[in-house]
Amino acid sequence: MSSLYRDTGVVLRTYRLGEADRIIVLFTERHGKVRAVAKGVRKTRSKFGARLEPTSHVAVQLYEGRELDIVTQAESVDHFRPIRDDLDRIAGASAMLEVVDQLAQEREPNPRLYQMLLGALRSISAHNSPVVVPAFFVKALALEGFRPMVDQCVECGSAGPLVAIDFEWGGALCATCRRGQAISPEALSLLQQMLGGQLGAALNEPESAATHEVSHLATRALEHHLERRLRSVSLLDRG
Ligand SMILES: [Zn+2]
Repeated sequence: MSSLYRDTGVVLRTYRLGEADRIIVLFTERHGKVRAVAKGVRKTRSKFGARLEPTSHVAVQLYEGRELDIVTQAESVDHFRPIRDDLDRIAGASAMLEVVDQLAQEREPNPRLYQMLLGALRSISAHNSPVVVPAFFVKALALEGFRPMVDQCVECGSAGPLVAIDFEWGGALCATCRRGQAISPEALSLLQQMLGGQLGAALNEPESAATHEVSHLATRALEHHLERRLRSVSLLDRG
């Protein structure tokens, strides 16, 4: 009836099932989002317990079930330990995991989103740039087909100066066409780097008013896209 398969994935969230078991929501490379039962993980000395925590990158073997799969093996690929040890990184990583949980479809592979998530987790783990999370949000929007135009006015095509941005309208706007929110030249430049293949340069930017501005704009744009507000990081959900 059921078949065994292997994949690698990132644990998006976990929740309790009965006394000893836990349901693991995994975003896998080849099977998309998968919900699976990990039996006995809440007992002490569980061989799975520490490996199947949110943000963990794991190689798993699963039995395919009708509704829930069953985890039969889990090997750690990367713990992203620096993320676990830092509340600021946990908050950033949790926001990205929540977005992926919203965007990923069950049993539908999304290799671009998968690589984006892994890249962002590696980045936040190695060097917690204030731009990692907003860049992930903006790129996730682009992947969803809502890539904002940031190099010219989305309304009239003029090169600018561009003084406002309206993600719902499709991007940046000149003074004549302005609508949406005002944007500083520095924040616009960060968005241009993120979307123009210069993410590395954006990631090297130190925290500033512009990184905060971009973070705020990207979060609002994505929230609107998801039509729900992102829950703030909740450590209590991990129990
Ligand atoms: Zn214009």
